[in-house]
Amino acid sequence: MMDTVGVKAAMSEISQIKVVAPNVAQAVIDQAIQIHGGAGLSDDFPLTAFFAYARILRIADGPDEVHRGLIAKLELRKHAARLGLPRG
Ligand SMILES: Cc1cc2nc3c(=O)[nH]c(=O)nc-3n(C[C@H](O)[C@H](O)[C@H](O)COP(=O)(O)OP(=O)(O)OC[C@H]3O[C@@H](n4cnc5c(N)ncnc54)[C@H](O)[C@@H]3O)c2cc1C
Repeated sequence: MMDTVGVKAAMSEISQIKVVAPNVAQAVIDQAIQIHGGAGLSDDFPLTAFFAYARILRIADGPDEVHRGLIAKLELRKHAARLGLPRG
């Protein structure tokens, strides 16, 4: 979308993927740790490092809450415009 319609028009989708991707990655890595048992927490596997990276992204690339707030604002604005309601 960034390549086809530009960053401004893709702003909601950019925030959506920034919330979804690290959360899904974190959940998947968490399951992988669980499946491996204690070994999943050991230095034999890089899973705890992967988990930390995914967790860091949920703050470093903008906190989830900030992205969710922006998504809500942009999506509500779209529907308000469609229904002829005032912005704000
Ligand atoms: C490893 C790492 C790398 C980073 N790299 C960069 C970088 O390359 N470039 C860059 O510019 N910044 C970078 N940052 C900074 C990062 O963008 C900020 O840490 C992040 O935006 C959160 O700001 P803060 O730490 O001041 O936390 P705060 O703004 O104090 O937020 C703390 C918490 O308060 C809540 N919160 C904050 N604002 C809202 C809101 N509007 N609505 C609801 N809840 C809210 C959230 O739960 C949030 O996690 C990096 C941070 C880290 C940890």
